Amino acid sequence: MNQTTEGRRQKRRRPDLNTVYSINADGSRNFIQPADVIGKWQVIRNSINFLLMLVYVGLPWLQIADKPAVLINLPSRQAWIFGFSYTNQDFYLVSVLLTAAGFLLFVLTALLGRIWCGYACPQTVFMEGVFRKFERLLEGGRVARIRRNQGPLNFDKFWRKTVKHILFIFLSALIAHIFLSYFFPAKEVLKLVATGFSGHSNALFWTLFWTGILYFNFSWFREQTCLIICPYGRLQSSLIDADTIVIGYDEARGEPRTKGAEGGDCVDCYRCVEVCPTGIDIRNGLQMECIGCANCIDACNEIMKKIDKPEGLVRYDSQTGFETGKRKSFIRPRLYVYLLMALVGLTVATFAVNSRTSFHANVLRARGMPYAIEGERIRNLVNLHIQNKNSEQSLFTIEVAEELRESFEIIVPLKQLRLKSMEDGETPIIVYCTFDDYKEPFPIFITVSDSLTGNSKQLEVMFKGP
Ligand code: SF4
Ligand code: SF4
Repeated sequence: MNQTTEGRRQKRRRPDLNTVYSINADGSRNFIQPADVIGKWQVIRNSINFLLMLVYVGLPWLQIADKPAVLINLPSRQAWIFGFSYTNQDFYLVSVLLTAAGFLLFVLTALLGRIWCGYACPQTVFMEGVFRKFERLLEGGRVARIRRNQGPLNFDKFWRKTVKHILFIFLSALIAHIFLSYFFPAKEVLKLVATGFSGHSNALFWTLFWTGILYFNFSWFREQTCLIICPYGRLQSSLIDADTIVIGYDEARGEPRTKGAEGGDCVDCYRCVEVCPTGIDIRNGLQMECIGCANCIDACNEIMKKIDKPEGLVRYDSQTGFETGKRKSFIRPRLYVYLLMALVGLTVATFAVNSRTSFHANVLRARGMPYAIEGERIRNLVNLHIQNKNSEQSLFTIEVAEELRESFEIIVPLKQLRLKSMEDGETPIIVYCTFDDYKEPFPIFITVSDSLTGNSKQLEVMFKGP
């Protein structure tokens, strides 16, 4: 390293533990331009990113039992998820499933640190897997980007920036439209686009809204989402312990960081910092800003190969592993507590999903007086409402308890209701009782049976009189 380069490095601000590197002392933004890196972890991450994007794009097009694999119809408060249909009455399942998923994430974090952030979070998947790649394609590598950004606005800078931002708007709109296809059938979304969302101002508004948010996020806000908005990064410090596998720097092996025989393995080349998308120096220890992308591992391994030293100066290991060289321990109370909580959540979720009925039925008294007098008789009118929650059409049979029929007159105009998936149906039920037979309010039992699943449900409503 010549003296001029070294001088520039001295002047350049270096990441530290007291400041956020992406924000300057005056509060302005210090835009991070991570360098390109290739290596084993990049191949793994790119493959996972590709698969996840495939799932994201493909799910609304995948058909299960003639319905999209995932479709949430907000206006009708219905959802089809992997062949099962749900209504707003099943909404409690969302909280149960989210709780179970949350505890599973706790287990994952206690075991493997921020593996979710680095490999599966949509922010990282789209930022590193899509937007950053196009940016590199149009604006070149780190040095070219920094020079161009600092240079005057000439034609070269103008066209590259213009094309990049047009592309970013297009990509944001594409992601927003795919997101929309989780709420509208994908083919309908194509029709909406073809007709310019005519008559669907709500869908247009939300699509434009999300396009704007995504464009802002991926073109400007970037790593600030992980640093400022996402609560998970802050939570991780309370979830991990000394045996959690994290990305770290082997200080014992690397220090003193310098070139030459007297130094450790770290040659202070700064490469691990240059590739970091959040601009931190992993050699300062585990930091909240680290999103676990493994760029620094691949970058340092490249250097180690060049200087003929073993790989793994920056690697996945536990704090205990870095400090003592001992193997990782999986016997940790916190891990089992999280696992237990996740299993409880999953058991409750499985039980809740399995115990949900294939239809919803309720009975409501007709509006107005609870009864009517017709000559010598008292009349009660109730409405039976059924909703078919099966993913197919089904026939619902309505029966009233036999012993009631002998003593009282019961009229059920529709004894069977054929309902399509998620369709609602209603029938009135009229019950007559003579004044002589009526002593006090008594229950009427109505049984509804689903021919498709064999499920049945008994409902109770009180017969009332004067
Ligand atoms: S420190 Fe390493 S793993 Fe963490 S965000 Fe930076 S490059 Fe990625
Ligand atoms: S890439 Fe490796 S050798 Fe270079 S500064 Fe980082 S830890 Fe040191």
